[in-house]
Amino acid sequence: MNIDFQPSPVFLTLTQTMQNSIIGHQQILEQLHHAMQSDRVAGAYLFVGPANVGKETVALYFTKSINCVESEDGACGQCLSCRKTDNGNHPDVQIIRPSGARLKIDQIRELQKRIVYRALESKRKVYILTEVERMNLEAANCLLKTLEEPPAASILILLTTNLEALLLTIRSRCQVVQFYPLPVRELATHLMAQFNLEETQAFSVANLSGGAVGKALTLLEGPSHAEHGNEPSFEEEIPEILTATDRLAVFRIAEQFSQNPEGLDGLVTWYRDLLLLHQDAPSELLTHIYHADTLKQLVPRYSRLHLQSAIKTIFEAKNLLQRNVNATLALEVMMLKLLGNQNKSEGDRSNGRN
Ligand SMILES: [Zn+2]
Repeated sequence: MNIDFQPSPVFLTLTQTMQNSIIGHQQILEQLHHAMQSDRVAGAYLFVGPANVGKETVALYFTKSINCVESEDGACGQCLSCRKTDNGNHPDVQIIRPSGARLKIDQIRELQKRIVYRALESKRKVYILTEVERMNLEAANCLLKTLEEPPAASILILLTTNLEALLLTIRSRCQVVQFYPLPVRELATHLMAQFNLEETQAFSVANLSGGAVGKALTLLEGPSHAEHGNEPSFEEEIPEILTATDRLAVFRIAEQFSQNPEGLDGLVTWYRDLLLLHQDAPSELLTHIYHADTLKQLVPRYSRLHLQSAIKTIFEAKNLLQRNVNATLALEVMMLKLLGNQNKSEGDRSNGRN
């Protein structure tokens, strides 16, 4: 059975480097803490928020807090129960991740088989289900049965990036907790304090991560960063489409994005930077601070309208992909529009209309 017991690498990193402290999400932690103190912990939670924002980290911290044997006030991080949860071998805590592209009905059935038994070592059994938007209707209906009659002394924590993709009946049976990215300045301040980063580096990482703590840590701990010490090697290369002039490149780049559609969020950040520079914004505001000089050279290729339209085009392509439209085709159309904008801007410029 494909049930994964491993805590995520990001979580391990967090617990190891930050001694059990969580960056941000203070209000959520207080809300959960209050539920524990007043003995009103819900049977099912639904944590909603962008990828890598900290949903799983908070879910695990909450799990540890509930079952901690040393502390009444949050998780101690040291007792056997806390350590077992951290190490992914607590018999009463299970993380269930999609097996391949889907969270499968077999995984939900397995959960249902296990959840009826009493907790072996702790107050409550906790099941954390990640990316629940990846359940098909069959699996969702199966899970609904458990949510309708949750066994006593068990808690389900469902994590999702997309609330809209879930059945209303599932949403209504869970206590919904909304996670937001951290403000860039707050994240950068934490990164400077925890990792001794220079201000520019910290802002660059915070901007690149879009305020998602997990993504920031992954950027900082990427192999390329470690190899290069303090060099800003976590920074990406300038996307080819910004400099491409050749229509053949369009099809190759579209193919790359169809393999990695998350890359579209990154692409938007480059066009936003160009738009900022177009308005003479200071470089510190850029997501790609380290490429400021190159971006400044690219700015004259675009008019403001064309940059706005490029961003809109990328969002339209993202929407199409979410609706399962033919990905490669949607992306090719997007790329041709982006390249068209760029060439048209160059034409405008040479005609003196910018
Ligand atoms: Zn503990």
